[in-house]
Amino acid sequence: MSDDPVTIPEHGRDATELLADIESMHAEDIDWRGGRAFSLVYNPGDETLERLLDEVASAYLHDNALNPFKYPSLLRMEQEIISMACSLMGAPPRAGAITSGGTISIFCAVHVAREEARSRGVAEPQLLTPSTAHPAFAKAAEYLDIEQIRVPVGDDGRADVAAMVDAIGPRTGLVVGSAPCYPYGVIDPITDLAAAAAERGVLFHTDACLGGWLLPWWERLGEPVAPWDFRVPGVTSVSADMHKYGYTFKGASIIAFRTRELLERQVFWYDDWPGGLYASSTPAGTRPAPPIAGAWAAINHLGVDGYLRMAGQVLEATRKMRAGIAAIDGVTVSHEPDMSVMELCVDPASELAVDIGGVGDVMDDRGWHLDRQQGGLHLMLSPYHLQVMDAFLADLADAVAAHGASRGKAATYGGVA
Ligand SMILES: *Cc1c(COP(=O)(O)O)cnc(C)c1O
Repeated sequence: MSDDPVTIPEHGRDATELLADIESMHAEDIDWRGGRAFSLVYNPGDETLERLLDEVASAYLHDNALNPFKYPSLLRMEQEIISMACSLMGAPPRAGAITSGGTISIFCAVHVAREEARSRGVAEPQLLTPSTAHPAFAKAAEYLDIEQIRVPVGDDGRADVAAMVDAIGPRTGLVVGSAPCYPYGVIDPITDLAAAAAERGVLFHTDACLGGWLLPWWERLGEPVAPWDFRVPGVTSVSADMHKYGYTFKGASIIAFRTRELLERQVFWYDDWPGGLYASSTPAGTRPAPPIAGAWAAINHLGVDGYLRMAGQVLEATRKMRAGIAAIDGVTVSHEPDMSVMELCVDPASELAVDIGGVGDVMDDRGWHLDRQQGGLHLMLSPYHLQVMDAFLADLADAVAAHGASRGKAATYGGVA
């Protein structure tokens, strides 16, 4: 690439030639289909589902879900997705909305809590989160101009209930827990946190962006799953991303509330302009139709038996990964994960001198993509990882046995170019 600023080409380019260019550029991107990515894309390894999603997306590509009354099909799909998601999590069938992602679902929960607190006379509400809460909470706090109080988690990586409860004060508008948190994959003690919030008349949000579409299936498979959803008294909102373990493509998340009244606080009505009444239930105006149609197709195609099958594969991949890590001297998981997400770190009980950044570098060189965190390497498992688990663990054992000093790749998650 040259440094000259790119401008619009004077003459339009041939479609075939453009497609060839795009194909070669895309080939440089992360290879998630081969199971080499451990973040970003949740690969079900299901070609039929992928083809179905391609077709659905293309059928709805040019449509706009801004005005659902012009699109009875999208209206129906949206209502059905909300109802299915709410039933999965134990919320009333119509107390939710579809957003473009977890960050926006969290934004909605924080906004509703701010408005609810203000209606109780709390002029400057605060947001109370464990230190492992997703950055989306800090972002929402900044955009919505409310203060975030971050409480350090305990040694097990879970929210410290006593410290969280101590931090609840007259200004607290929302208490947060994760199911699970992104960095360590551990589930916060939602029951205790939500009870403490409810006792003080404060709203409680479970961030189940990661777990919302996986934990219910693990529970049905008989796995011990710590309570996190609306069955827990005091939980007033939940975020759950369909574009993660719901296996649809990006742009689909659910924000659900315990009551319709809470949901209605996020609906925006406006008619003080010449263009007629404008109403929307999330920050988006124009909304792409494919994420709605895609989520509807994915959920209906997989069904309960499909999700159970996928969840069983993720469980098996998780067990193999845990056992594989345990068998390699020098590394361990930093906290006992409750799900298929974990942090790989140096084992303090081992005599071996391991530089976890150096291990990550060797894995990079072998084509595996492991995100760096402050404390180690991040792993998020999808069904397809079962296919590559043995190869991964063999490379990991090699990398731990022989690596140099870390090349110093920084801990990163999102990115800005
Ligand atoms: C992914 C994630 C989010 C944010 O979701 P986006 O879809 O990336 O906006 C929030 N919380 C947790 C725990 C997540 O894993």
